Amino acid sequence: MDIRPNSAYTLPGMDAYESDRMDMVRRQIAGRGLRDARLLAAFESVPRHLFVPEEYRQHAYADGPLPIGYGQTISQPYIVAFMTHLLDLTGRERVLEVGTGSGYQAAILSHLAAEIHTTEMIPELFAQAEKILSELGCANVHCHLADGSLGWTEAAPYDGILVTAAAPSAPQTLLSQLAEGGRLVLPVGDRGYQELEIWRKENGEFKYRPSLGVAFVPLRGEYGWK
Ligand code: SAM
Repeated sequence: MDIRPNSAYTLPGMDAYESDRMDMVRRQIAGRGLRDARLLAAFESVPRHLFVPEEYRQHAYADGPLPIGYGQTISQPYIVAFMTHLLDLTGRERVLEVGTGSGYQAAILSHLAAEIHTTEMIPELFAQAEKILSELGCANVHCHLADGSLGWTEAAPYDGILVTAAAPSAPQTLLSQLAEGGRLVLPVGDRGYQELEIWRKENGEFKYRPSLGVAFVPLRGEYGWK
């Protein structure tokens, strides 16, 4: 798949952060062992600073999460990279993201998979993310204002599902929307601490393995925290 930055990525103001961005990729992502060339190229291409509120722009490439308003956050770059890496994308997949937030994770996925569907429950975040993703030319990303704990049946099944908010457990609705061989990656646990879980559908059965400890904002909606 062609992962050259598209022309919309040459927006004014982008280059001021280019060396911060390259540094982020080198130290925080490659430096921690994620060395896939397509993955690194996606993070080099996506202007993370355009996904954070103006007041945090100078911290956009720092090694941590940042507030994006409405009590929500854009995740730490390494966590975005690690979760993306767990999907093992080749460029041909259809992927569902639950929790659009700023739209940054969806923009990264747009470089690495064929078709992305992303769901968000907060109308203001949905509108902002849809606008920036469209301005950046991420034409393969489809934003939906919806309860993503129910998945997005209209485009199912998915080769990969990423949940970027903490769930009480892996929702059956999401597992049921996985294609054969597909993977669901999500943080499971309470408000303070969760473990990333990786679910894989093999021969119609679900296999599970735990991964990193993480701290995400809660998943809401029907299969989230009440
Ligand atoms: N992936 C995002 C990014 O790249 O900026 C960060 C996501 S933020 C950690 C979690 C997001 O999940 C919040 O924007 C929150 O509103 C959203 N969310 C929580 N529960 C949801 C649900 N049931 N359906 C859709 N979005 C949900």
